Amino acid sequence: MIAPTNRVEKEQLIDGFGRQVTYVRLSVTDRCDFRCVYCMAEEMTFLPREKVLSLEEIGLLAEAFAQLGVNKIRLTGGEPLVRQNVMQLIQHIGGLPEITDFAMTSNGSQLTRMASDLKAAGLKRLNISLDSLDPDRFRQLTRKGDLQQVINGIDAAVAEGFTGIKLNAVILKGRNDDEILPLLEFAIDRQIDISFIEEMPLGEISEHDREATYCSSDEVREIIRQGYPLLTSSTDKTDGPSRYFRIPGVKTKIGFISPHSHNFCGSCNRVRVTAEGRLLLCLGNEHSVDLRAVIRANPGSLEPVKQAIRDSMAIKPERHHFSLGGFNESSTSEFGTDELNANGDVQILRFMNMTGG
Ligand code: SAM
Ligand code: SF4
Repeated sequence: MIAPTNRVEKEQLIDGFGRQVTYVRLSVTDRCDFRCVYCMAEEMTFLPREKVLSLEEIGLLAEAFAQLGVNKIRLTGGEPLVRQNVMQLIQHIGGLPEITDFAMTSNGSQLTRMASDLKAAGLKRLNISLDSLDPDRFRQLTRKGDLQQVINGIDAAVAEGFTGIKLNAVILKGRNDDEILPLLEFAIDRQIDISFIEEMPLGEISEHDREATYCSSDEVREIIRQGYPLLTSSTDKTDGPSRYFRIPGVKTKIGFISPHSHNFCGSCNRVRVTAEGRLLLCLGNEHSVDLRAVIRANPGSLEPVKQAIRDSMAIKPERHHFSLGGFNESSTSEFGTDELNANGDVQILRFMNMTGG
């Protein structure tokens, strides 16, 4: 469904449930210099180059969304900063007047050398993943990461004075749940925000049993209250699915992203585009549209891709269907790749790096 438009009013993307899409997450690559245990398998086969959108094609998509009323773009991946020449794209999006909120999610490994250019290109906000402050454990969880390099990157970003910096920590029971308070204190020391994330069942991984390591946001909050009894729910809101809490006298906002224990679909304002140019209308469903085919059939042309995006609003589903093992209800779509796993659940075969987390 598309809101009525005229020449004066800006066009809006409204889905079949009356929600306006104002936020797009664009995955600029499926590749990464890390192999986090909850995100990727140790041995990954990445997409061949021709299947991945070119930087120009991603730039065109960003313009199309901007003209359709989107005001927030987040670049993600894979690791966006390992894509060659990505700065060209960042400068392009940073120059789009409609995009008032331009953000990126990064693992921080390249920030020491890139933070200053990112700020100059118009990037406003950075989410940086950090799951452990212990170098050996950090290496185990990321399989390849160097903790000090990431901490230096975080500090370089803090020194640049971005509008907002937030740490993202995925908490796994028995792996890093004893670091919840140290991670929070790391954020408090730097006066930056932090979100604790429940692991999502995206992609089949064999490194750990997701049900055994599942740590709910309620449990994380209980642990924080042991150190900070005055932790209280706050009315802070962002465009994202985080619910925020505050500690009196502390600048750091503490977010909880809880796809299992909290259904945030009712206020969903976002869509995602994979590195292959597949528009995903919902993280937990396979409803999607192949925008790459539209772009490549009409090179350099904005209108066909804008029309495909308008049309896609009709298939944005009402809610996601996560369960711990996979998904608890079958989701079907003409583009779907759902398959039944051994428990009869639907297991989405995409990895998080494919969808742009
Ligand atoms: N490479 C960048 C990074 O790590 O920040 C951006 C891409 S990464 C896929 C985006 C976010 O998704 C990260 O914060 C990561 O921790 C999170 N993530 C990846 N796999 C996840 C999963 N299975 N469940 C929950 N969060 C996940
Ligand atoms: Fe790479 Fe980010 Fe996935 Fe980790 S979470 S493997 S850093 S894409």
